[in-house]
Amino acid sequence: MPPPAAAPTPDARRSLYASTAAAAGPTPPLGSDARARIVVVGGGYTGLSAALQLAERGVDVMLLEAREPGWGAAGRNGGQVNAGLKHEPWTVLTDLGAVAGARLLTLAGEAPGHLFGLIDRLGIACEAERGGTLRAACSDSQAASLGRSLEAWRSLGVAITALDASAMRRATGSDRYTAGGLDPRGGAVNPLGLARGLAAAAVRAGARLHGLSPALRIAPAGEGWSIATPGGSVRADTVLLATDGYTDDLWPGLRRSIVPIYSAIVATAPLPAPLAASIVPTRAVVYEMGAITAYYRRDAAGRLLMGGRGVQREAPSFADYHHLVRYAERLWPGLARAEWTHWWNGQFALTPDFYPHFHSPAPNVYAALGYSGRGVALGVALGRELASVATGVPLAELAVPATPIRPIPLHRFWRAGVAARIALGRLRDALER
Ligand SMILES: Cc1cc2nc3c(=O)[nH]c(=O)nc-3n(C[C@H](O)[C@H](O)[C@H](O)COP(=O)(O)OP(=O)(O)OC[C@H]3O[C@@H](n4cnc5c(N)ncnc54)[C@H](O)[C@@H]3O)c2cc1C
Repeated sequence: MPPPAAAPTPDARRSLYASTAAAAGPTPPLGSDARARIVVVGGGYTGLSAALQLAERGVDVMLLEAREPGWGAAGRNGGQVNAGLKHEPWTVLTDLGAVAGARLLTLAGEAPGHLFGLIDRLGIACEAERGGTLRAACSDSQAASLGRSLEAWRSLGVAITALDASAMRRATGSDRYTAGGLDPRGGAVNPLGLARGLAAAAVRAGARLHGLSPALRIAPAGEGWSIATPGGSVRADTVLLATDGYTDDLWPGLRRSIVPIYSAIVATAPLPAPLAASIVPTRAVVYEMGAITAYYRRDAAGRLLMGGRGVQREAPSFADYHHLVRYAERLWPGLARAEWTHWWNGQFALTPDFYPHFHSPAPNVYAALGYSGRGVALGVALGRELASVATGVPLAELAVPATPIRPIPLHRFWRAGVAARIALGRLRDALER
């Protein structure tokens, strides 16, 4: 066993949410050897949701988080709660078959409703708003694909409203769009507030949460597993891995089965009321179609949060975010004098097939990851699936199919490949417009 590394400290370079989210509760590092029936690794939505569900069912559960709950993408994302998957419904039904496809579509379609219900039930203060998700087409060809998608969702009973160019102008305050679809299932949250609220609720329900406690190594121990951290180790019957875009080499091959992608966000100071009111007056969250999407929303204080592609590395300098500011100014020229106060990026896990992945690589070890940029509602939903399988629900009964971990060949070249695809996607989108 390698010598335990020193515990890391939380990093100071944080998103806007560090100053707008409710304060975090205490999650002291694991300081001695311990025993738990189930150990969850990773304190984002997936891990926190699993720990919460388990604790609420009276199961003895411990969560280990390398930094603090919500430190990963859960505390840095765009705060868009969206229904559905990256793929259109007909692709899901073709890829997975009618039964498994319908189950996954139901899970992904109902995920926002479940999440907003959970926020309500637990009284989580996270600026939750259910103004819908607006999917925006920037060209005639995107409008045509959107039309096909809306038809498919309507045939599944989802009441998505089609918007033409002038309705989109009224809904967004920008004349950029040729068409749109408003999905009433979606909405917005303060992402870090949500993560911290889930953490507090899990602790109240009896889960033991340890921050600054990276799982360094997992080894078989008797009938179960032993997980080493810098401050002590824990023996458990079952291990749940929930590390998404921050997955390391803890479990063989898992890191190489996904591609961690950086996405970037910039935020204004609270805007003057008339200007704020002219930006997405409907208060939906918006994401654009296209190879490389931009996404944005207004927060409770009247700030604009504009997200999209960015450099594929840590990016503390504002210079790395100018393209997002320029794009926002193009959508709403009135922003020309706005003050941009926060910029940050973070990583999510992209899977090669764009489906979330659920694995059981060894007896009583399960992993859920790879929401390909749609993990707010889906992460919470798959955390629930992890809790179910850990308490005896057979894998075959889950709403998400379990697959073997498949490391991506030539994985280390993928980051460069993604950067090239981002450039190509920009070019393709630009040519279409
Ligand atoms: C900038 C950005 C914008 C996004 N916008 C949206 C959006 O608007 N809507 C949407 O649906 N999705 C969005 N996403 C994606 C979404 O945030 C993620 O899919 C979601 O947070 C995944 O949740 P998770 O719990 O699985 O992983 P994370 O939230 O990333 O949490 C994983 C945690 O695991 C911990 N960890 C890793 N290794 C170890 C270890 N060995 N031991 C202990 N802990 C470990 C990490 O410290 C981290 O806290 C965005 C992502 C980013 C980066």
